Amino acid sequence: MTKPIIGILGGGQLGMMLSTAAKKNGIRTHIYCPEENCPGSFTSDFFTKENYDNKNAIRNFSEAVDFITYEFENIPIETIDFIEDNKKIRPGKKSLLLTQDRLTEKEFLSKLNIPIAPYVSIEDANDIKEAHKKFNDCIIKTRTLGYDGKGQESIKNHCDYDEIFEKIKLESIIEKKIPFEFEVSVIVARDIEGNIYHFPIGKNIHENHILKHTYSPTQLNKIQTDKLISYSEKIIKELDHIGILAVEFFVTKNDILVNEIAPRVHNSGHWTIDGCDISQFEQHILCVAGEKIKAPTLKNNAHMVNLIGDEIKDWINKSNTENIKIHLYNKADIKKDRKMGHVTYIYDKQHNFE
Ligand code: ADP
Ligand code: MG
Repeated sequence: MTKPIIGILGGGQLGMMLSTAAKKNGIRTHIYCPEENCPGSFTSDFFTKENYDNKNAIRNFSEAVDFITYEFENIPIETIDFIEDNKKIRPGKKSLLLTQDRLTEKEFLSKLNIPIAPYVSIEDANDIKEAHKKFNDCIIKTRTLGYDGKGQESIKNHCDYDEIFEKIKLESIIEKKIPFEFEVSVIVARDIEGNIYHFPIGKNIHENHILKHTYSPTQLNKIQTDKLISYSEKIIKELDHIGILAVEFFVTKNDILVNEIAPRVHNSGHWTIDGCDISQFEQHILCVAGEKIKAPTLKNNAHMVNLIGDEIKDWINKSNTENIKIHLYNKADIKKDRKMGHVTYIYDKQHNFE
C-alpha cells in the first residue's frame, strides 16, 4: 500500500519536526508556508511558499496531498474553508474553531465541567475594575492570536481602569491569577478508530511567560494523575480530534485547573523525541495518516530546555553526546524571545527531578 502524502499548514519548528518524523515512517510531507526559508522548508519533500489567503494556491495544495494538518492554531478559518474536502483535515475544524478564541475555549471547558481559572469577558473599563476587585491579582489576555505570553498584561495594585481599557487593541478577557504550585501538560493523541493514548506527564517551568524547561515524567499523586488524564481524554473526545492535542494545567494545593488547550503538537512534548519509543510528532503523523496508534513507552527520563534568542549561539557548534541531544531549528535570524532550538538532557528512569 502506498503511504499518503501529508500536507502541513505552517513551516515553523513544529512543521519541521513533523516532516522529519513523517520521513522516519516513510511518509512524505508537503509544507505550505508564507515564509521562504522557514525551518520546515528544509525538511519537507514538497514546499509551497504562499499566503494563507490565496484560494487557488490552497486548492492546488489540497489536491496535491491526501490529508492536511496544521502546526499552529491561528490558521485563518477562511483558509480551512478553501479546502473543499473537509474530511482531509486532521484534526478537524472543530478543534481549530474552539481553541482560536480563549473565550469559546473557556465556555467549552465550563460546559464539560472542567475546572478553569475564573474569568470575565471585557466589554468596558468597569469589567476590569469589577474583576480586579473580585480576583485581586489578575491577567488580561487577548481572546485571539496570543502565544508565548504575547497579548497578556498583569494588573497591578493601583491602576487606572480607563487607561488600561483604552490600551486594549483586541477583544480580551480578564482572569484570576492562579497561585499554582506548578504547571504540567498532558500530550494526548487520538486515532481515527478512537484509540486514545497519552505520553508520560511533564512539569513545565515558564520564564517571562515563555516555556523554558520541561521535566518528564513528573511525580504526581493518583488523584492528580487521574484528573489530568480524565480531563484530557474528555477534551480530545469531545472535539472529535484526530492527532495530538496538548492540555496545559495549573496544579494548585487542592485542585487541577486547565489553563489552555493547543490542538497540535506542543513545545512541552519535544522531549518525547529523545525520551520515548515514539515521539509526539510521529504519533501525530500516524493519526493523520489514518494508522492505528499504540501507547508510547518511556525510554529515559528527560529534561528539555528551550534555546531562546542568543542562547542558540552556545550550541551551534556543539555535537550530540549520549546524554545531550541538540535540536536546532535553522531559523534565518536570531531574535529576542524567539525559540531557536532546544536541548534534551537524558537521564535514567530512576532519576528524580524533584
Ligand atoms: P500562551 O498562549 O502565551 O501560552 P498562557 O495562557 O498559557 O498563554 O500563559 C502563559 C503562561 O503565563 C502560563 O503558562 C503561566 O505560566 C502564566 N499564566 C497565564 N495565565 C495565568 C493565570 N491565570 N494564573 C497564573 N499564571 C498564569
Ligand atoms: Mg500556554
